[in-house]
Amino acid sequence: MMQIQYKSTRGAGKTVNASQAILKGLADDGGLFVPDSFPKIDKNLTELSRMNYKEIVFEVLKKFFTDFTEEELLFCINSAYDEKFDTEEFAPVIEKDGKYFMELFHGPTIAFKDMALSILPYLMITASKKNNNKNDIVILTATSGDTGKAALAGFADVVHTKIIVFYPKGGVSRIQELQMVTEQGKNTCVIGVNGNFDDCQSEVKRLFNDPALRELSGKSNYRFSSANSINIGRLFPQTAYYVWAYSRLVNAGAVKAGEKINFVVPTGNFGNILAGYYAKQMGLPINKFICASNDNKVLFDFFKTGTYDKNRPFYLTSSPSMDILISSNLERFVYYLAGEDEGKICGLMSELKEKGKYSISSDEMLKAEDFVPGFATEDECAEGIKKLYDKSGYVIDTHTGVANSVYDRYKKETGDNTPSVIVSTASPYKFARAVIRAIKPEFDFENDFDFIDELRSVSDTCEPEAIRKIRNAEIIHKKTCEISEMESEVKNFLGI
Ligand SMILES: *Cc1c(COP(=O)(O)O)cnc(C)c1O
Repeated sequence: MMQIQYKSTRGAGKTVNASQAILKGLADDGGLFVPDSFPKIDKNLTELSRMNYKEIVFEVLKKFFTDFTEEELLFCINSAYDEKFDTEEFAPVIEKDGKYFMELFHGPTIAFKDMALSILPYLMITASKKNNNKNDIVILTATSGDTGKAALAGFADVVHTKIIVFYPKGGVSRIQELQMVTEQGKNTCVIGVNGNFDDCQSEVKRLFNDPALRELSGKSNYRFSSANSINIGRLFPQTAYYVWAYSRLVNAGAVKAGEKINFVVPTGNFGNILAGYYAKQMGLPINKFICASNDNKVLFDFFKTGTYDKNRPFYLTSSPSMDILISSNLERFVYYLAGEDEGKICGLMSELKEKGKYSISSDEMLKAEDFVPGFATEDECAEGIKKLYDKSGYVIDTHTGVANSVYDRYKKETGDNTPSVIVSTASPYKFARAVIRAIKPEFDFENDFDFIDELRSVSDTCEPEAIRKIRNAEIIHKKTCEISEMESEVKNFLGI
């Protein structure tokens, strides 16, 4: 079998195997790890259409993580995808109003990050063992909301790991905060910081690179690691659900094996949609990737003009997980557009750092022709949620709502009738306030749980376990700190 090695998009340093890339997260030169070739799926599409979710994850991961044994991969897959999810399908694909919705929100925190963060801890401890790392892994994260809880749920009580999450006090929604501060895992630590998300993020980055802290923690057998979306241990588990969605459409007779389909992806950091790009490189018949942004449409402008420019106003929207001006995973895609020219990527990324923007040529942009950008304003997103609900009774969240509106417009403007899958990244229960305000603008209450009750009634669905759990849960993590105290909080928690 073909062995895949990983190299940095910025070219320095030697190649590493998958388990080393998972442990490292980021390459030493600051670049992102990319596979040295694109593996192809072994099975034909008809065979895939008879497989269950976990079997498909195995088919995909064995092609990328070639230094893992079959046994190791199965251990990771079986530990990740279990009763933590509320459906045996893991990611149901549902037809509504002539579109397909792939629901990626049936995991413990009811958002799509569960799909990858439930397997990452097992990939990490396995990688750690394979590389004779004797230290326990300490995950250090700053979160603006969704990633924090998904990482906590993934790492909670996983042996030989600990996790510390910092969030901006007052900078996340009440529901998101409750989800985090009620986390019961014995190896978890959650702290509200008096500062904004960028402050938390910068301090976490500084702690990662602080040689004194690294030495001190190493002496106590700890090794810091990161759970952010640039890790290949998060990227490739996401490739699997693109293959899964396709296999479901074949299974349902909606497409013939080999016929192309579109994916519509609500995009922030460009991790999710990039995972789909890898699925296409593996041989999955995909026509277009419709890249949907909210008002923070830096990606829309990039695909239209070839210039990535983060110097612009930042908008807080009702789809906060897409409120991003630096899409870190885009570096991998630009690497392919630039003909895998590492020197060029180094140049572009230092321009991004210094001037906040870079451009690539129109010739290079030709390679991005599979990507169709779109964006939806707050009003368009809300109108689309209401229209879909009025037609079908189906309720989607605001991130999925952005994708839904972008797709409707795309279809109207192009007349493209290719079967299309909208990637549904969160449960409407997670963003109940904005969703209910879209469907029933007259509804107005103070308490988030009033909106949740209303959502249950309009959608005629059951409240997910993740919501039920936080209604009366004990608050376990009560600590707050200043930015300058984050380091001592880390030391304190680790007892170093
Ligand atoms: C993180 C997130 C996104 C954006 O995904 P990227 O991989 O960052 O592009 C979209 N929707 C929801 C609900 C998310 O949590």
